[in-house]
Amino acid sequence: MEQKKVSFYTLGCKLNFAETSTISRKFTDEGYARVEFGDLSDVVVINTCSVTQLADKKCRQAISKAARISPDATIAVIGCYSQLKPEEISQISGVDLVLGTSEKFNIIEHLKDIEARKQNHALVFSCEIEQVDSFNPSFSLFDRTRSFLKIQDGCDYHCSYCTIPLARGNSRNNSIDRTLAEARKIAEQGIKEVVLTGVNIGDFGKSTGETFFDLIKGLDQIEGIERFRISSIEPNLLTNEIIQFVAKSRSFVPHFHIPLQSGCNDVLKLMSRRYKREVFESRVKAIKEVMPEACIGADVIVGFPGETDESFDDTYHFLEQLNVDYLHVFTYSERRNTRAVALPGKVAPKDKDVRSHRLILLSEEKKKTFYERNIGKEYEVLFESQQSKGKMHGFTSNYIKVETKYNKNLINNTRKVKLTSVLPSGNMNIIFAGE
Ligand code: SF4
Repeated sequence: MEQKKVSFYTLGCKLNFAETSTISRKFTDEGYARVEFGDLSDVVVINTCSVTQLADKKCRQAISKAARISPDATIAVIGCYSQLKPEEISQISGVDLVLGTSEKFNIIEHLKDIEARKQNHALVFSCEIEQVDSFNPSFSLFDRTRSFLKIQDGCDYHCSYCTIPLARGNSRNNSIDRTLAEARKIAEQGIKEVVLTGVNIGDFGKSTGETFFDLIKGLDQIEGIERFRISSIEPNLLTNEIIQFVAKSRSFVPHFHIPLQSGCNDVLKLMSRRYKREVFESRVKAIKEVMPEACIGADVIVGFPGETDESFDDTYHFLEQLNVDYLHVFTYSERRNTRAVALPGKVAPKDKDVRSHRLILLSEEKKKTFYERNIGKEYEVLFESQQSKGKMHGFTSNYIKVETKYNKNLINNTRKVKLTSVLPSGNMNIIFAGE
């Protein structure tokens, strides 16, 4: 019998990528061959996100592409969007199976069930999000040089614009021992860099009576993993203890990504964030004091209801003087069932565009300044596998992207390099140390 083919399409965050990877291994264990999304498949799994309206749109586009290319395939939609709007998705032409948060890891069983039933309408298996308390460990393998390890899921915060707690449930995690066992499985595969992922990773330990600090101390001992990267951590949870530990740890790299969202305290309050901008500023200072070479990124939302021209300027000037090195700029988009929908002071789309553009330019300037400050310095670079126009790239521990001539022997290898200049591509040029 011919081997069945499965393809995957993942939208959204690193957590979704880790989960898709784990789900794809379940299919491989069942005897499926994994093919690229867009190739003829027997099963197509679309792992969705619902953070922005664009994510909803991309999900619909992926469904229609899959149905066009593989009209006989079973199309399964999983992830945040399918938890939030299962009925809506089930009405989209081509969709056969919609799985909510607690069911997506049981996809193989549901597919067998679908084959047995031979129905001609989509089956929906959703759940009440308040009842979801299981934690499904996940990690990505070989999709990229780095592996994303899911250490935490869900969120107990209630930011006024966010649907993630409605889609993923309460904060929960595996025990430290089990999480370390997952990290060891990654090390056995020869992966050198692991990125810790979750919805609110600083909250790790809430469901097991442990702490994120104790977890990172344990991870630092895992043999074989050269680098751990803390992907994104809330400023109020990034303690001095964690910062001091990263500064002297064996494997935790000096790179922090911290969601700020607004540099205006009035807007932070409207967003129901749990800190004022002064806390954010103190975290940045504490990091740069002990790790002057550290790279710090910040998320910012523009166009939140109530963000006036003055409050945006407040954010802009705060960021301008703040010692952060790049920004991820998001344009606010209204999500159903969030408190922000009812807030007055909606921002016109054209104002959102102008604000977003100003912050993107500021981010480019900051990144360039950071890169230029590092010219002449030596770092270890871990090289990645993608090749483009005869070039390949890698990252320093402090997240500087470097570029060099493609050499397959460098893939997944760490080499000491000297940073020489900023290239027109925005990446850094290098020479290998000792050459
Ligand atoms: S911290 Fe706020 S923005 Fe982040 S997932 Fe939780 S509720 Fe959403």
